Amino acid sequence: MGRVYNFSAGPAVLPEEVLKEAAEEMLDYKGTGMSVMEMSHRSKAYEEIIQTAEQDLRDLLNIPDDYEVLFLQGGAHQQFAMVPMNLMKNKVADYIVTGQWAKKAFKEAQIFGNAKCIASSEDKTFSYIPDCSDLPIDDDADYVYICENNTIYGTKFKTLPNTKGKVLVSDVSSCFLSEPVDITKYGIMYGGVQKNVGPAGVVIVIIRKDLITEDTLPYTPTMLKYKTHADAHSLYNTPPAYGIYICGKVFKWLKKMGGLEVMKQKNEEKAKILYDFLDSSKLFKGTVVKEDRSLMNVPFVTGDADLDAKFIKEAKAAGFENLKGHRSVGGMRASIYNAMPKEGVVALVEFMKKFEEENA
Ligand SMILES: *Cc1c(COP(=O)(O)O)cnc(C)c1O
Repeated sequence: MGRVYNFSAGPAVLPEEVLKEAAEEMLDYKGTGMSVMEMSHRSKAYEEIIQTAEQDLRDLLNIPDDYEVLFLQGGAHQQFAMVPMNLMKNKVADYIVTGQWAKKAFKEAQIFGNAKCIASSEDKTFSYIPDCSDLPIDDDADYVYICENNTIYGTKFKTLPNTKGKVLVSDVSSCFLSEPVDITKYGIMYGGVQKNVGPAGVVIVIIRKDLITEDTLPYTPTMLKYKTHADAHSLYNTPPAYGIYICGKVFKWLKKMGGLEVMKQKNEEKAKILYDFLDSSKLFKGTVVKEDRSLMNVPFVTGDADLDAKFIKEAKAAGFENLKGHRSVGGMRASIYNAMPKEGVVALVEFMKKFEEENA
């Protein structure tokens, strides 16, 4: 049994090289005589793993010194709560709702204060990104929140919203490290790593240091304060040690590939192959406004639910896995993250062409 082309939205495909290296080091990590899974997180060997991972991430994203990098747990969902608990000093926050994940974060923030939806694309099933150049941002807003790449719907913010000087918080789970970004535009950028970076269980938070304070909402648990983890360099309690080790290997792989500028080119090239086909196909159609298309998640439909199901079944038999769209939208979705090789996208398009001919 060989490896399939895995188009899962997450947990998702990882670079084969990284998996092979991890396999080689499984029983004996660099002469320690043990697996990274069996190692104390306070050991010299592990200290080097987490410090190297952080430095490589800093290099890749050009993270300035006035930003902290935290390796945490609880997934993106935990950030839906941690963000308001740590940032809502005035108890006001503005949310831009462009999909289920942004909506969930917005709902969670309402537990803690006056979270307001200042823009939404729900009127057209989240198939576009609203104009965010002049939004009614509250003078007292502690932050403006976005989900930058909408994993389920396949849209992406191509320009960041005008926050009128307010702190920008962004969930980048499904576009993390897919292209270069200017970190200084963000107060917090965070992402669960199981989409584009590593195995489930790690969430990376990049946060401007002045936003890390003792002044959190009352009853904020110690574990949910950014300060706790910043002070302890992500080693306050036992971190998701093996997951961070794999993330570190992915960072090395990205550096070896040439960094995020090169990844952006590769991702654009891959996405173009699929979108060009969708635009020319008589059977398959993309579901998103062209200007807002994601490079990472590509949803499409035939317009006939039975034919969609037939396609997904035949694709699976041909070695194309996890093409079923999210349960809330149906149809198909191809997630083509960093680790999806171009050959995988080319092969998928060939398969789609053949299916189109056979089902004309
Ligand atoms: C997958 C996903 C989430 C949820 O992540 P969990 O780690 O399961 O909490 C949140 N936001 C985005 C953009 C996602 O893609």
